[in-house]
Amino acid sequence: MDHTGLAPVCRRCGRPAVRGRANYAMFEGMHFVCFHYEFEHRDTDPDDSCGVAGCPCAPAERGKEKLLDTPRTLVAEWSDGPPANWDVHSLPGYLEALTRWLEDADGYYAARKLAIPWDSRTVVGTALRAATVYE
Ligand SMILES: [Zn+2]
Ligand SMILES: [Zn+2]
Repeated sequence: MDHTGLAPVCRRCGRPAVRGRANYAMFEGMHFVCFHYEFEHRDTDPDDSCGVAGCPCAPAERGKEKLLDTPRTLVAEWSDGPPANWDVHSLPGYLEALTRWLEDADGYYAARKLAIPWDSRTVVGTALRAATVYE
């Protein structure tokens, strides 16, 4: 079905605002995202969160920070040598466990009745942690 003929055109990007039709006036004749980048995001890098509530980049930014937490924590845990609660005690052992975990990631989520996260950062973060105790 083609709704584009009926939809108002976004003043910023020139494409039809089909889904945002109801909010078209509120966002000064733009898509919500176009309005945000035009008036709210300002000088912030378009790939980074600007901190304004509803910033389209916020989820990606949070995912990045959350992912970085994992290797940072793992490095801190290893600062006094192999942590007692890890099953792997060498880098090759860790990398082998990481490889096996990634090979069987589908099984990991299936066993927990979880959908595989669409965000690969989430999967990598889980893998980095899980490999410390993966046989
Ligand atoms: Zn637009
Ligand atoms: Zn923003």
